[in-house]
Amino acid sequence: MRLLKFLCIVIALSLPIVTVPYFFASAVRLKGGVDENTVISVYDVSLSQRTEMRLFDYLCGVVAAEMPALYNVEALKAQAVAAFTYFAKRAESGEESEAHAGCAVCTSSSHCSAFINEERQKERWGENYGVYRTKIEEAVRAVYGKVITYGGKAIDALYFARSSGKTESAADVWGNHYGYLTAVNSEVDESGSGFVSEVVMSLSEFEEKFKEKYPNASESGIFTEVARSGSGGVLSAKVLGVTVTGRELRSMYSLNSTNFTVSEQDGKITFTVKGKGHGVGMSQYGANAMAKLGYGWEEIIKHYYTGVEISNYR
Ligand SMILES: [Zn+2]
Repeated sequence: MRLLKFLCIVIALSLPIVTVPYFFASAVRLKGGVDENTVISVYDVSLSQRTEMRLFDYLCGVVAAEMPALYNVEALKAQAVAAFTYFAKRAESGEESEAHAGCAVCTSSSHCSAFINEERQKERWGENYGVYRTKIEEAVRAVYGKVITYGGKAIDALYFARSSGKTESAADVWGNHYGYLTAVNSEVDESGSGFVSEVVMSLSEFEEKFKEKYPNASESGIFTEVARSGSGGVLSAKVLGVTVTGRELRSMYSLNSTNFTVSEQDGKITFTVKGKGHGVGMSQYGANAMAKLGYGWEEIIKHYYTGVEISNYR
């Protein structure tokens, strides 16, 4: 009995010693640099559990999930560096590890970076799997261990699908100033199909949706007192007597971005929207367009992230 009690105490005391280094394994290993054998812990949100994988496979899975594999290889490389930088920042700071059962990142696109494993890559690409997987592996291998830094620290490497012709600054969108997340020109986003999208609904549908959230809204003035960022994104507007943010309107009416205009005709409301995504950081479509014009991944990164350096993590 006494021995059992003693054993229990020994086990209880040794638990934190065993589990703590295990929990923070990804951060500890990363500080010593990365090589092709580096294994990291990722929190798989679909299985609600930690999973161990090679950093290389994690980066391939993020690039596969976050960018069309059809894109130019230089754009895929820029995406791979952004993905690693995002991971490195989380792993170093440990700031999200509690939300992820001790892992630096999870597989949720709304929380960290989207990720698909090889099985889902096969499902997504079908007969093109071999070609696309090889292309992504080549891109990840070419820039493996490269990290984007600002003031000597890994940056928040944000990206989004396509700009309105100019990216947005983080200060305008979220109110937090980051020296490297400023508004830059991205006119290349304006060429090609899909730049402008429309959302059309009846005036009553429009009002109904708005009043779900603001029941006391009035009946008039559908879109007035519009404040825009220098890049054209709606910062705020008065809708039915209530001042709301452009981000709120974007989510309420499922708009591709906050860069939109509103018109009313014959009892119908039409949102005309430019670009896709929050607009801060690297435009993925723009990265591909720049790559097709002959720019390399470093030039793409330095264009979209102001004043950054690219360093070697190894
Ligand atoms: Zn996460």
